[in-house]
Amino acid sequence: MEGIAIRLLNLRKSFGETTAVAGVDLEIRDGEFFSMLGPSGSGKTTVLRLVAGFETPTEGRVELAGQDVTGLAPFERDVHTVFQDYALFPHMTVEQNVAYALRVRKVPKAERLARAREALTEVRLEGYGARRPAHLSGGQRQRVALARALVGRPRVLLLDEPLGALDLKLREEMQVELKALQREVGITFVLVTHDQEEALTMSDRIAVFHRGRVEQIGTPAEIYERPATPFVASFVGTSNLLDGEAARRIVGAPGTYSVRPEKIRILKESAESTEPENSGATGTVAEVVYLGDATRFLVDLDGGGRLTALQQNLETSSEDVAAYRGARVRLQWHRRHCVAVPTPD
Ligand code: ATP
Repeated sequence: MEGIAIRLLNLRKSFGETTAVAGVDLEIRDGEFFSMLGPSGSGKTTVLRLVAGFETPTEGRVELAGQDVTGLAPFERDVHTVFQDYALFPHMTVEQNVAYALRVRKVPKAERLARAREALTEVRLEGYGARRPAHLSGGQRQRVALARALVGRPRVLLLDEPLGALDLKLREEMQVELKALQREVGITFVLVTHDQEEALTMSDRIAVFHRGRVEQIGTPAEIYERPATPFVASFVGTSNLLDGEAARRIVGAPGTYSVRPEKIRILKESAESTEPENSGATGTVAEVVYLGDATRFLVDLDGGGRLTALQQNLETSSEDVAAYRGARVRLQWHRRHCVAVPTPD
């Protein structure tokens, strides 16, 4: 049966006048890839440090596998933290780095080496055991840090912006690898990131943090397609909100609505939809951004407000799309893609 790996109850943490965590309740399941996503200063790192035991909560409780660990030291908790800077020992070889935790636990040498090699194989670094960290690339160092975390088979792996130091291409590769690794080893992974794409790509579920609280918890699709607050709608994905007068005119009811850019089609101004399930508005293209595989159009609506529409460049080139600047267009979307976003009272 699926158990609860981590349970946070009314967790609060203040540093003097600053409230870093303002009351967080959440449950992370065994074997889940869970991300804590939010902008800088939203409290996600502090929550991770509270789970690891590097900080003590001002209020509330941390449970690991049903046990209250709030008062326990980091080494008494069955978790391992991977930091952004990897924190490898420069004077030790890769193998010694990976085996270090086992040496501390007095695991016999032969077993230590066998398990270190196994962990290095898991992160696709077999054959690198004798090198020093200085002689590895950023991506390889990151993998050593992962192997070092996995070797002790913790119940939970905490990852604090683990891909932050890598360049974009490597980061994208590592996202896929990290997810595959997590599936393979079956350990609960908790990732802290400010990168929405990273969270959407890898996670089973995401908690979106804002000002020390969780604004929404859900699967990537739930968070992206059904944002629970205007903050989530704008932080995850491109902000594309209709509100005020524009909402009243276009949607026909007051409120705040979100339409994702890729759900919007750009048509000639004169195009009239015959499909009753479609909705739309006319406007003028204010800006065109050519992205290579797609083009982003910023359209000022006649009824007020601005929407971004994303179109795949199936047959268009950068010259074609540039001609759109200033053009009159009709934006169209399926009604079900225009979702109401609850606004806080
Ligand atoms: P980042 O991605 O920048 O680390 P974050 O969402 O992880 O941001 P936290 O690092 O948890 O946010 O910080 C939340 C708030 O608590 C911030 O205002 C931060 O300045 C403050 N804070 C965190 N740690 C400390 C500390 N040790 N002493 C004082 N203030 C702190």
